[in-house]
Amino acid sequence: MSGSRGAGDVAVRSRQWRGVIEEYRELLDIPADTPAVTLREGGTPLVHSEWLSEVTGAQVHLKVEGDNPTGSFKDRGMTAAISVAKHEGAEAVVCASTGNTSASMAAYAAKARLNPLVLVPEGKIAAGKMAQAILHGAHVIMVKGNFDDCLRLARELAASYPVALVNSVNPVRLEGQKTAAFEIADFLGDAPDYHLLPVGNAGNISAYWLGYRQYADLGRITRKPVMRGFQAVGASPLVTGQPFDDPETRATAIRIGNPASWKLAESAAAESGGRFASLTDDRILDAQRELARNEGVFVEPASAAGVAGLLQELEQGESYTGTTVVITVTGHGLKDTATALEGFTESGGTVVDDVVVPEVAAVAEAAGL
Ligand SMILES: *Cc1c(COP(=O)(O)O)cnc(C)c1O
Repeated sequence: MSGSRGAGDVAVRSRQWRGVIEEYRELLDIPADTPAVTLREGGTPLVHSEWLSEVTGAQVHLKVEGDNPTGSFKDRGMTAAISVAKHEGAEAVVCASTGNTSASMAAYAAKARLNPLVLVPEGKIAAGKMAQAILHGAHVIMVKGNFDDCLRLARELAASYPVALVNSVNPVRLEGQKTAAFEIADFLGDAPDYHLLPVGNAGNISAYWLGYRQYADLGRITRKPVMRGFQAVGASPLVTGQPFDDPETRATAIRIGNPASWKLAESAAAESGGRFASLTDDRILDAQRELARNEGVFVEPASAAGVAGLLQELEQGESYTGTTVVITVTGHGLKDTATALEGFTESGGTVVDDVVVPEVAAVAEAAGL
């Protein structure tokens, strides 16, 4: 059709980010002719943190993954998984989820006109995430068990019934998620010295390591970062070396006792000279508030684990002076405002500071002007 232009051409002319498949297609191990089901995910900001740079003497950058279409990094993997599932003729998709995977899957399934089926653990899903899954048309099944039970059931279901599994045990998910490492390296001109991030089911740390290794093999970076992963004390199997039968943390996105990508994540830490450490919920919620207040970046509780980890390590005498550090903040604060406000009031904050009559003098007095 002479004279017509594909959406990709227009996107290039208008500098509109095309989504992670079209931006990095030649680097992704998916069938070459797979049409992209995309909401233009990825291309998220790498925000320089003056606060954390001052505290560490390093150059610290935040990869703000809450800026993805459904508010978490899960969209990177989901565009890949849903595109491939659709291309292969799937009509229904299933995932187990602590919330963000289901929100993302439901959105991309809606875009692809697939039927989304979501398995969630009883009573542990943040309201914002649940609302997303429901509004995007997911069939939500609550399982009387934890995330690990949900994942086992999703796998069994996909093995025996006509429904495609899109959890990060699906290797296509990691293909999409590794693009975050590409973006960081493209932006900085090389890999950072350190990369810190929260770890739950451990797909993301594995995907980043995949991405950095690939860029190193291609000669696009001169070094690979040391990978440091952070878990909540009540759900820290990668720290203790043992699965948790009853994982517990208010950072619900990392409330996982038996990570599916355990082996890959251990390799990422070992090969990079990195490690895992755990944090109390209080530390995680403190970091969430400090990040919001000091940087203008509002993340959900689990997403603050990398920042909390950096601060804990400094307290323990670790030095980052003179290095470049990237911390992935994984999901948006608006996903779970209830926990954010609980953390705020528990730490002594008041939600409404004053109540006044509608007169300017009263407002000025209350404001201390
Ligand atoms: C999924 C998720 C995590 C954990 O990532 P894994 O790949 O499961 O380790 C952390 N934070 C948020 C906001 C998430 O949605």
